[in-house]
Amino acid sequence: MNEPYEFKVAWCKICDQGWLTIVKNTVTAKYWVMCEECESEWSHPLHAQLNINVKEHNEHSVRTPTKEEILESGWADYNVKV
Ligand SMILES: [Zn+2]
Repeated sequence: MNEPYEFKVAWCKICDQGWLTIVKNTVTAKYWVMCEECESEWSHPLHAQLNINVKEHNEHSVRTPTKEEILESGWADYNVKV
């Protein structure tokens, strides 16, 4: 069984209750950042960390990316150690 790879980039400054993690759209294969609690979205980890350009939550088909996919996305450097 594969454990989902929770890739945290920041603590959510909007709801103050959840982590912002990188997710992958299963249809378009695009990556973005989403709050696991309030479902706010950002198109880039840097925007999530700075809390700018937040987007409305849309209905997306998303899943947690694997470690390999995170490396492929080029966003591995945005990981925060907790
Ligand atoms: Zn939130």
